Amino acid sequence: MRKIVVTGAAGFLGSHLVRDLLGKGYQVIGIDNLSTGRLENFNGVKNHPEFTFYKFDVSDPNVLKLPELANVDEVYHLASPASPKFYQASPFETIAVNTTGTQYMLELAKNYQSKIVYASTSEAYGDPEVHPQPEGYRGNVNTWGPRACYDEAKRLGEVICYEYFHRFNVEVKVVRIFNTYSAGLRNDDGRVISNFVTQALTGQDLTVYGDGKQTRSFCYVDDNIRALQLAMEKDEANGEIINIGNPKEYTVLEVAEMVKRLTGSNSRITFHPLPPDDPKVRRPVIDKAKKLLGWEPVIDLEEGLKRTIEAYRAQMVAQ
Ligand code: NAD
Ligand code: UDP
Repeated sequence: MRKIVVTGAAGFLGSHLVRDLLGKGYQVIGIDNLSTGRLENFNGVKNHPEFTFYKFDVSDPNVLKLPELANVDEVYHLASPASPKFYQASPFETIAVNTTGTQYMLELAKNYQSKIVYASTSEAYGDPEVHPQPEGYRGNVNTWGPRACYDEAKRLGEVICYEYFHRFNVEVKVVRIFNTYSAGLRNDDGRVISNFVTQALTGQDLTVYGDGKQTRSFCYVDDNIRALQLAMEKDEANGEIINIGNPKEYTVLEVAEMVKRLTGSNSRITFHPLPPDDPKVRRPVIDKAKKLLGWEPVIDLEEGLKRTIEAYRAQMVAQ
């Protein structure tokens, strides 16, 4: 049976991936230090016979001594705070998990000739001057600002992947993930969809930062999880950097209005200061993902938001 390690397993993407992999009949070992992740995300799978969970810091070298990790076939390295609110509160931990932590996971892959997917980010492009963003665009990241600990750590994580691919032939695949959402994001995650949906459903103001004209392109989690697994599977993705995201672009204000309409909420939309270095535009070119993975997203924002809102509502009723 295929043995798969998922770091960041208790987080938003990690827990969706764990659930999907277990459903496909694989053995899954989840590692997470529970800094932003939650054990509740394992509801329904925590007693699965093929699932083992370790509360462990991936930046700790002892991670390589965990006996359960021997003979692993595949590693998904997703561990890292992802919301600006959380990575800015823990900059050094964010740098460590994406650099040292990435190197440990690459060592693991090297030791057992396993394949590895590294979760990089659209933030590798910073505040882009090329729009939309193809993988060949080298980005516009400010090293001297509050987003740098995340953006530059991810970029250095990519560099470490490059070295393991070229020096040691590790089958590494780097995915640059663009804004991904669904239920399962913490209510207090701070990212825009979880904020707007929580605010709309609890009658609070929807907090738009800046004038709301900045854009993002939102990918529903199921589309993302499918892409991560295709990247792992396909030899064509070895040693490649691939954008994973939905190329349909919206302004943040459009998203606030859509959430208001779909929830039927009477909440007001209010405007607040734009955080420093907030990228003005973001949209992936996904030609490479189409070509190498045969992948493109199928769930549009309206459909994804309907599913997300329903799940948040159900969760509120259950609480
Ligand atoms: P998340 O915060 O929900 O999950 C991250 C998980 O990593 C959490 O469970 C956290 O506890 C764990 N973690 C953090 N540091 C760790 C460490 N040192 N050791 C072990 N576990 C650690 O975030 P997410 O949205 O699920 O993001 C998952 C990955 O995907 C991250 O690497 C993130 O940078 C990347 N990504 C996500 C998005 C997105 O839109 N969701 C976009 C771009 C990139
Ligand atoms: N944003 C917003 N209101 C919120 C949270 C976020 O207007 O309550 C904006 C934020 O300034 C950014 C966009 O929404 O322009 C996406 O923010 P998020 O933190 O979700 O992800 P980012 O792409 O910035 O990492």
